[in-house]
Amino acid sequence: MKRPTILVLGAGYGGLMTVVNLQKSLGADEADIVLINKNDYHYESTWLHEAAAGTLTPEQVRYDIASVINSNKVKFIEAEVTGIDVEAKNVKTNLGSHTYDYLVIALGFEGETFGIKGLDQYALSIANVKAARQIRDHMEYQFATWSTEEVKDDSRLTIIVGGAGFTGIEYLGELGNRVPELCKEYDVPAKKVRILCVEAAPMVLPGFDPELVEYAVRQLGAKGVEFSIGTPVVEATAEGVMIKTGEGEDDIEFIKAGTVVWAAGVRGNRLIEESGIENMRARVKVNKDLRAPGFDNVFVIGDCSLMINEAINRPYPPTAQIAMQQGDVCAKNIISLIQGKPTMEFVPDLKGSVCSLGDDDAIGVVFDKKLTGKKASFMKKMIDNRALFMVGGVGLTIKKGKFNIL
Ligand code: FAD
Ligand code: NAD
Repeated sequence: MKRPTILVLGAGYGGLMTVVNLQKSLGADEADIVLINKNDYHYESTWLHEAAAGTLTPEQVRYDIASVINSNKVKFIEAEVTGIDVEAKNVKTNLGSHTYDYLVIALGFEGETFGIKGLDQYALSIANVKAARQIRDHMEYQFATWSTEEVKDDSRLTIIVGGAGFTGIEYLGELGNRVPELCKEYDVPAKKVRILCVEAAPMVLPGFDPELVEYAVRQLGAKGVEFSIGTPVVEATAEGVMIKTGEGEDDIEFIKAGTVVWAAGVRGNRLIEESGIENMRARVKVNKDLRAPGFDNVFVIGDCSLMINEAINRPYPPTAQIAMQQGDVCAKNIISLIQGKPTMEFVPDLKGSVCSLGDDDAIGVVFDKKLTGKKASFMKKMIDNRALFMVGGVGLTIKKGKFNIL
């Protein structure tokens, strides 16, 4: 009998967890496992705010895919997926086409701009490791230019962060630590720098525990972060952003800024929208066993998938925590299909969430317990290290883990 081909698209949390579990459980003669990813490295999306602020280097947040896959069992192809046709069972890349018996789509997230004018063109988004590096370099360029200018344009030193969700807040936490270093490096007086977070909702971290939110706002405030709450960004230009400050047509304020970072939500990968699978903002509402409705041999996991939390009738937030758990179940379900057994249901096992406020501070709720400060920060690093361990074992954890525990 012909060996089935399992094609996994994307080596993020979901894709890598699927492959690592498949290679553990399947013999080399049982299936052809093919992994396609844009780069020959995996980056920790959950550390991108650190690379974007410059508190970690791009190198620190990524590792070689070859170091965690077994090349006797998995064929890795470094290529960019350019099209998915589930009717024809065909995936196109910049280097050629691939067919499959089982497909896993794990192509991750893109920044959501909600069609707001100018954002695509003028704002920077913490979307991947290259984009994070660009944000860091852009910010440093503004500081360096300010320090050499004869007629100084102080707005170069204004950094606007759009969105006070987890990404925005974690990035602001890193900025709080990085900006004083930049001021020293580029001879910039600290009082010239403005860090402003603009949030559409009436609170920071909408929906999160109010006591922890209050702590976060206080801690970030002490590091010089200002908040403009209930004031959505409605347009971005080459010079800054327009925000809506009231109900009237004229209630628009323009804020000039040298750096605008957009962190106001995510969507799935745009390739999903042309794949022939029903989707909402490039996310597929998957069946309970993670398969795409109508396509029994296609699994969609991670940020490209959508699952409803029936207890509150709202989608689960797209997180690495869920993507990794899905990778585990996805691998099990593919093996069951190959062996003619029934698939299992995916049930997220949510352990809580921790939001960093820089390297030395955080807030979180873990197993229903509230945490702040160094305890929360320690927990965040343990979560980061656990993710490394689950993909690459002790070796990867020692090589890339966070052990600067205070
Ligand atoms: P990703 O991890 O995004 O991986 C997608 C992969 O697909 C990448 O390797 C990419 O290069 C590749 N790819 C994309 N397009 C193509 C293409 N066309 N061709 C080939 N390859 C392609 N979640 C948590 O649970 N905890 C956290 O602390 C946390 N912190 C976060 C911090 C930040 C700054 C951000 C932005 C997100 C954070 N998240 C966190 C959310 C989490 O990162 C995502 O939910 C998670 O990365 C989704 O995993 P994924 O496998 O779907 O995709
Ligand atoms: P999000 O959707 O959680 O937050 C986006 C924020 O932007 C919201 O507060 C929203 O009100 C605001 N916003 C939307 N439109 C706006 C506008 N026009 N102007 C100003 N503000 C606007 O998105 P995110 O923070 O990018 O997070 C994406 C996913 O990644 C979430 O599921 C999140 O839980 C996860 N994540 C988790 C962690 C963690 O666990 N530590 C860290 C980062 C991200």
